[in-house]
Amino acid sequence: MTRRELIRVLAAAGLGAPFASRVVAQDASEHAAPDGKTKELEPFTVREGPRYPAELRGGKVIQPERPLDVIHETDVLVIGGGPAGFAAAVSAARAGAKTCVVERYGYFGGLWTGGLVLLVISTHAKENGQRIKVMRGIGDELVERVDRIGGMIYRQNRDSEDKFNPTTDPEATKYMMDQMISEAGAKVYFHSWVVDVIMEGGAVRGAVIESKAGRQAILAKVIVDASGDGDVFAAAGAEHERRLHAIGLVHRLGNYDRADREKMKAAGVKTLGGPEPEPSVRWINLRGPSTDCLDIEVLTRLEMEHRRAIFERVQKLRKTPGGEPLFLLQTAPQLGVRTSRLLAGMHQLTFKDSREGKKFPDAIGVGGAQGANHVGWPIPYGALLPKKVDNILAAGRCISCDQKLIEDMRLIAACLITGHGAGAAAAVAVKSGCRPRDVDVGKVQALLREQGAYLG
Ligand SMILES: Cc1cc2nc3c(=O)[nH]c(=O)nc-3n(C[C@H](O)[C@H](O)[C@H](O)COP(=O)(O)OP(=O)(O)OC[C@H]3O[C@@H](n4cnc5c(N)ncnc54)[C@H](O)[C@@H]3O)c2cc1C
Repeated sequence: MTRRELIRVLAAAGLGAPFASRVVAQDASEHAAPDGKTKELEPFTVREGPRYPAELRGGKVIQPERPLDVIHETDVLVIGGGPAGFAAAVSAARAGAKTCVVERYGYFGGLWTGGLVLLVISTHAKENGQRIKVMRGIGDELVERVDRIGGMIYRQNRDSEDKFNPTTDPEATKYMMDQMISEAGAKVYFHSWVVDVIMEGGAVRGAVIESKAGRQAILAKVIVDASGDGDVFAAAGAEHERRLHAIGLVHRLGNYDRADREKMKAAGVKTLGGPEPEPSVRWINLRGPSTDCLDIEVLTRLEMEHRRAIFERVQKLRKTPGGEPLFLLQTAPQLGVRTSRLLAGMHQLTFKDSREGKKFPDAIGVGGAQGANHVGWPIPYGALLPKKVDNILAAGRCISCDQKLIEDMRLIAACLITGHGAGAAAAVAVKSGCRPRDVDVGKVQALLREQGAYLG
């Protein structure tokens, strides 16, 4: 008889209470620190300030004027911890700038890890007939380190030795992002939404965050908007465009290695997503309807509709001959929002320039080609800079580009590259005591090269 069974018997006889409470306490402490290393945390490090609730006055909801607690002051404030925000924060912190990242969820990686978009394409381009790696520096270091801990396959093939187009394990990627951010010494606030900016004249001086502790403020010298949706430059009044795009939801299938694929093929099931480093799991992309990625009613409806369709499809697969062992392992915790706001920047990158590989004197990186089948496209610093608003840079899938280039610009590799560029520029601006638009781009490029980036 196990200890639990014994307690159940004793409890039924009315004798179990003292034993039961001991078991609960043991279970709780085991779960608090699986490896025994997690330190006890000090409670209430971010204190709740006084509340000033909104009021209904004469049929209008009025938010009264109120002071906000400043919980942190920093040199570089990065908003969003997706691929772009991660690279920006690591770059700025390694360059010696005091750096802070604010992320609405509880992990790094954005759509890559939370959206379960696991295939990193466009890490390479074709130059002089050769395949060359353009995603170097911080993005490449991350991918290499994930590979070293066994969280990676290449070319969507578990046996490929060719280090091209990696697919990463989401948990290994989150783990390594945490490590690199911690090593760089950046301060992190998870579970915090940036809901507004703090302006001083025409410049952004910080962000208002919303969390379980209410509304609070963080002050900064330079802000990097890596929110994907341009939430921060839009709040600051920077000129931008809104685009519609397909909204999908990625999901993962478990027990793939136990399914009988031949039988399934014979029953008409042609594809079952893409491989992951873990052989029993497949990730399945979903395109979804093209619509407004900022409309919460649309987002809510699509979360439910996609989840229903996915669940029902997997139930069907389980009834298909050969598919019996399959199960729905997970739907992505983050909806697959591809594009929403794009900065109207000092320089709008175009598809035409990209395919011609047009060179720019202020290049902060070079984008790649999905199959390494065309030239790399230098990315000018001006594509990250708003036309008017100061102290803010865009990075990732919301930088300034034309409609046709969106499909390349929003890929993970390109976001790691523009994030790296924005972080380096922010650090140089802080060190030079100037606005990001006045920064000496030569110094930014020197720092990027020092940090391993490829500038063409
Ligand atoms: C369904 C789908 C399939 C895709 N397939 C591929 C593929 O196969 N290969 C590929 O390379 N790319 C693919 N992409 C594109 C790629 O995943 C994203 O474009 C890329 O992750 C964008 O990186 P980012 O850092 O700019 O933004 P995101 O990854 O969106 O990260 C933004 C981060 O900011 C946080 N955030 C947002 N707003 C706030 C706020 N107000 N306050 C605080 N935090 C905030 C978010 O939580 C998130 O963590 C796909 C995208 C989708 C949706």
